[in-house]
Amino acid sequence: MPRESLEVNHNYPPSYYAATAADRMVLRHELTDAVKTDVCIVGAGFTGLYTALRLVEAGKHVVILESERVGWGASGRNGGQAILGFSCDMPPIEAQLGYESARDIWNLMRDSATEIRQRIAQYNIDCDWRNGHLWTSILPRRESILREWQQEAAGKWNYETLRFIPKNELPDWVGTDRYCAGLYDPTAGHLHPLKYVLGLAAAAERAGVLIYEQSAALRYQQHGNRVTIETGKGKVTADALVMAANVYLGDLDKNLSRRIIPVGTFMVATEPLEEIAQSLIPSGVCVTDNQFILDYFRLSADGRLLFGGGCTYLGGTPRDIQKAMRPSLERVFPQLKGIGIEFGWGGMIDCTVRRTPDFGRHGNVLWAQGFSGHGVLPTCVAGRVLAEALLGDDTHLNRFMKLANPPFPGGKLFAAPIEAAGKLWYRMRDLF
Ligand SMILES: Cc1cc2nc3c(=O)[nH]c(=O)nc-3n(C[C@H](O)[C@H](O)[C@H](O)COP(=O)(O)OP(=O)(O)OC[C@H]3O[C@@H](n4cnc5c(N)ncnc54)[C@H](O)[C@@H]3O)c2cc1C
Repeated sequence: MPRESLEVNHNYPPSYYAATAADRMVLRHELTDAVKTDVCIVGAGFTGLYTALRLVEAGKHVVILESERVGWGASGRNGGQAILGFSCDMPPIEAQLGYESARDIWNLMRDSATEIRQRIAQYNIDCDWRNGHLWTSILPRRESILREWQQEAAGKWNYETLRFIPKNELPDWVGTDRYCAGLYDPTAGHLHPLKYVLGLAAAAERAGVLIYEQSAALRYQQHGNRVTIETGKGKVTADALVMAANVYLGDLDKNLSRRIIPVGTFMVATEPLEEIAQSLIPSGVCVTDNQFILDYFRLSADGRLLFGGGCTYLGGTPRDIQKAMRPSLERVFPQLKGIGIEFGWGGMIDCTVRRTPDFGRHGNVLWAQGFSGHGVLPTCVAGRVLAEALLGDDTHLNRFMKLANPPFPGGKLFAAPIEAAGKLWYRMRDLF
């Protein structure tokens, strides 16, 4: 790709993704009148769009309100790693729901890995999809976590595709000696998230979904079996409302926003690495380590290293993201010391107290949030679960609703110091 064509689109964060997806960005109208619909969805990220697609495929009329642009939130700026499982892993889900329900939830996750591939093919979304994820261990004592998950996945969840990669085989997978072992999952994969979310939106619109941008939902009111949602200049009256708004929900529903806190995570993109790129990740997979405060990275289609990590609580952002991220990148790949970094950006993840997903329903208002940094595939599960419930089958939603997601103790004021102390503790544990 000619370097001159990489221009940041200022409606989106200054990411590598925004610079390379400008050709498919469509400016949509703001809502300026009163409309009626079957379902109104707040948020045009993965969660909102997956829900909308399933509803419109079932014949429902759907309106999406997006306060910024399609994919402006986490969905258009994430690491692009489509990894199976929720952030909390399976044990807390099984402990709370029992084996049968947990198995059902794991199967939904497996289905979502198929669905993402199907949707890319069905809508012909050019989004740089590649198969494969490598989960690595830095600390020898955490190698057992990889082996235990491989055994649990095969024995308990009937998921037998994982392959353990010992230290001596790692050079074929990733060009660093930082790791002592890895676990390869061919069913996972990675993509350009902004191209993908814009492709989902275009498909939803072709099917009849109306998407309004720059149209923040400011307040809603339930009355009988209807709900009205007000924006600055318009109003939607619907049979049901879906909140798919991540950490940006704010005052629209305080009961929901109390159950998550925003945690910042950051990414950089190097300059194109030409022939060095292949030597960094010869396998072409995406990589995540199993530290508590983890690094995640992969190659872009044009041969850059996209590297993410770090975290800050309640929206803090380093003044210079590229500078802040460089030491982590160079710790993994010392051979990239001093390499040019062309993009740096950040985003918020929606963490729940126990990192379990928070899907629910209150009458005709449904929601899905709390992906806790692990949402590329789980949002696909969420879209299915919410849409099924709205179409009359709430079996899956009822299961998710049994997961306890209490508000953060002391609200956001106390969540920051508690989480910061937790982060310090985890950083210490990552050292030994
Ligand atoms: C930097 C970063 C890296 C990540 N990396 C990965 C990864 O590699 N793998 C992975 O699985 N997960 C990753 N995640 C998490 C993943 O991106 C999210 O879990 C997922 O995208 C959440 O999708 P969503 O649709 O629920 O929320 P979002 O994509 O954030 O969409 C919510 C939308 O709602 C809109 N909105 C909010 N309030 C209102 C309102 N009142 N009215 C109208 N619109 C509103 C917002 O503008 C936003 O566009 C990462 C997240 C970040 C930030």
